[in-house]
Amino acid sequence: MKEVRVAIVGGGPSGLQAAIALSRLGVKPTVYEEHSNVGQPIQCGEGLSIHAFNDFSIPMEKSEIWTKVHKQCKLVFPENGVIYGDIHAYMIQRDKFDQYLANRAKNLGSTIITSTKVNSIQQKTEGVILHTEGEKPDKIQCELAIIAEGAKAKLTRNLDFKPPDPLIFAFEYKVEGEWGEDLEFYFDAEKYPYGYIWIFPRKNETNIGIVTTSSERKRRLDDFLKQKSITGKILEKVGGPIPMKGPIPRIHRDNVMIVGDAAGMVNPIFYGGIRIGMTSGEIAGKVVAAFLKNQGEERTYSLSNYQIELSKFKFMDKINLSCHDFFYSRSNKFLSKLGKILNNQNINKIEGKEKIKVLANLTMNPDLLKYPRGLLKIYKGFKIARDWGF
Ligand SMILES: Cc1cc2nc3c(=O)[nH]c(=O)nc-3n(C[C@H](O)[C@H](O)[C@H](O)COP(=O)(O)OP(=O)(O)OC[C@H]3O[C@@H](n4cnc5c(N)ncnc54)[C@H](O)[C@@H]3O)c2cc1C
Repeated sequence: MKEVRVAIVGGGPSGLQAAIALSRLGVKPTVYEEHSNVGQPIQCGEGLSIHAFNDFSIPMEKSEIWTKVHKQCKLVFPENGVIYGDIHAYMIQRDKFDQYLANRAKNLGSTIITSTKVNSIQQKTEGVILHTEGEKPDKIQCELAIIAEGAKAKLTRNLDFKPPDPLIFAFEYKVEGEWGEDLEFYFDAEKYPYGYIWIFPRKNETNIGIVTTSSERKRRLDDFLKQKSITGKILEKVGGPIPMKGPIPRIHRDNVMIVGDAAGMVNPIFYGGIRIGMTSGEIAGKVVAAFLKNQGEERTYSLSNYQIELSKFKFMDKINLSCHDFFYSRSNKFLSKLGKILNNQNINKIEGKEKIKVLANLTMNPDLLKYPRGLLKIYKGFKIARDWGF
């Protein structure tokens, strides 16, 4: 049986950021990744807020990890009402981005073992035992484990944590050519229930995808391409599950912490999870390092600080889920009214008298009047989603 001090299961952004935080604080973890290359296959729309670059000191000039910057987003509602918003987001190359994080972790002292799947985990009072399969199946004993295994959360389920269910599914084409100028989101409660279609232009290509609870997502996306006369060659198809309802209630128990998608660390409005997942990894890493440093003395530092520290972030606020529940259960009639009232406005630039006029229009409208609290949820939830949505 091998022994490592801290094991991290999963070499996506959340697990890798946990490894970076731990290594920086002198604890050198071992990351187990089932695929042969970190970052592949890509399952992502590849939109990432500038805040993630700032939070984790990722140099903007590292141009191989991103291809284009967007400063505006466009929310398109049924009957074509368009609301604009300020945004500062990078179109990343997700495989290169994850590989950049992996190199950073390695340079700080982490070990990354690829082509190694963790099949099962046993939690014991004296530590955690991982069983791996791969080139050399093994049994690994560690003091603590951080589970960063993504949305399917198989190990998380087996450890009796509440899993990040329900999952919603996304499907995307990478299309040749730059189709559009802004990040675009198309909402339609009938065609794309509980989700939207996105158009994310990159350099010489565009990621066009759909996230919805409808099982007809491929047909809906194909219809959309036809309707918009998007005829670029399809270069790649990707897809995958995403936690739909945000963080799970319990993210730590004894010597195991859950981070990233496995813990539901995804914004339930735009369904982006890279920045939130990395934040959960960073906090888990810091807490584990502080906990281990405190060993030997009379323990005063608890691993439950992970949950406590994380709950201070806005993405953990219940308003995100309330906004999701309210916004995504509205009819197209409601959505088109909202789009018409705010049509062609940039919501971040509505000031003074204009703001009062817009508020009056919203609250005086008979279709929207019934929902003053719901409108407030949308306002608050989308404000957080702008920063934490991707
Ligand atoms: C189609 C699609 C588009 C998306 N677009 C965006 C977007 O534009 N912006 C955004 O912010 N978010 C987006 N997301 C969500 C984002 O991809 C996830 O939130 C993010 O990848 C979560 O990171 P993670 O490290 O928690 O999990 P993952 O990135 O899923 O990483 C988990 C890793 O664990 C490995 N693994 C799993 N089980 C085991 C095991 N038993 N043993 C060893 N290794 C294991 C996997 O191989 C994987 O590498 C999108 C998701 C999908 C599906």
